[in-house]
Amino acid sequence: MSDLKSPQNWHPATRMVHGGSIRSQFGEMSEALFLTQGFVYPNMEAAEARFKGQDDGFIYARYGSPTAAMFEQRMCLLEGAEAGRSTASGMAAVTAALMGQLKAGDHIVAAKALFGSCRYVVEELLPRFGIPCTLVNGTDYAGWQSAVRPNTKVFFLESPTNPQLEIIDIRRVADMAHAAGATLVVDNVFATPLLQSPLQLGADCVVYSATKHIDGQGRCLAGIVMGSEEFINTHVHNFLRQTGPSISPFNAWVMLKGLETLSVRVHQQMRSATQIADFLASQSGVARVLYPTRADHPQHEVAMKQMRGGGTIVAFDIKGGKAEAFRFANALSIVKISNNIGDAKSIITHPATTTHQRIGPEARAEIGIGEGLLRLSIGLEDPQDLMADLAAGLAAV
Ligand SMILES: *Cc1c(COP(=O)(O)O)cnc(C)c1O
Repeated sequence: MSDLKSPQNWHPATRMVHGGSIRSQFGEMSEALFLTQGFVYPNMEAAEARFKGQDDGFIYARYGSPTAAMFEQRMCLLEGAEAGRSTASGMAAVTAALMGQLKAGDHIVAAKALFGSCRYVVEELLPRFGIPCTLVNGTDYAGWQSAVRPNTKVFFLESPTNPQLEIIDIRRVADMAHAAGATLVVDNVFATPLLQSPLQLGADCVVYSATKHIDGQGRCLAGIVMGSEEFINTHVHNFLRQTGPSISPFNAWVMLKGLETLSVRVHQQMRSATQIADFLASQSGVARVLYPTRADHPQHEVAMKQMRGGGTIVAFDIKGGKAEAFRFANALSIVKISNNIGDAKSIITHPATTTHQRIGPEARAEIGIGEGLLRLSIGLEDPQDLMADLAAGLAAV
């Protein structure tokens, strides 16, 4: 029998409820919210020892605080990561994971199909500091290989990609990165820690926007960077401490409470998403449906190999273009027009005119974002109501 005193022996659902809890002397049941900028030392010697790193108590909330530490611990347990640092947003996590490792003269290779702000970081921000980026088609493995230069330090990808749910073989890209002397950073937002484990597939670093499924109720921004103790200490620890994109203790607390229900939410949303993907595929007004566990998904086999489920998001093309997509979405009653994902409320997004508007028509065409493409994040509503809503949208086209 396994020792249940050790969180390492708990299943994921148990880790999400109890992992990382620190109880104060009051023995509170629910995790405490420590709203404090600093910490009091019992004497001068204790302050000196803490600043010298001889005792591991807290010093200053920009460096770490009890509520953020609980969130980080719980996430590391769930991810199977040795270490992690939370951040104010997902983009702060992505920026730290990349900038923390890179310096002028280095080179980065990234898959083209990235979240819009991630494209900004690799295409516009890093080059300004002398770090050029080569963008590749994520499923073209020869393309990754031929992009490598002697100074390539980082490979960066997102899988499933936003918004067309392309699946990139993480193990294969990790092996190529390591052969080139580079690290692999994976943005795992769409899969969540429940459905895909990039570190186990060979990635060196995994980043999340916790704003999405981890909050899951559209309240707060947060992010986290995780990896080995060595990776975090070498590349992330000082970058975050000194530059300061720290998570607010309140947001860390919201995320901790969000984690308690992550498994039930994601699994229910995924059951609905599977059903809704099949429903959409049967409708004559829909040209194409993209959902990783459907047999007609272009990278279905890779998805089945590296994921434990298809996720909570469905992408589909409405027959026609922008006008038809707009008529469809404007006719919806329950599904809201917005741009979050992983929320309890179902959300529809037209990437070409919103999240991916900035990259322009050519770059959109390259990654398969047409004028009729819609991204649907499935929430916790009854799937029968969602299907009736989508049918009403299609009737309005
Ligand atoms: C939302 C998102 C981000 C950015 O996260 P924020 O919390 O909004 O800063 C990064 N990557 C992906 C895939 C996302 O969906």
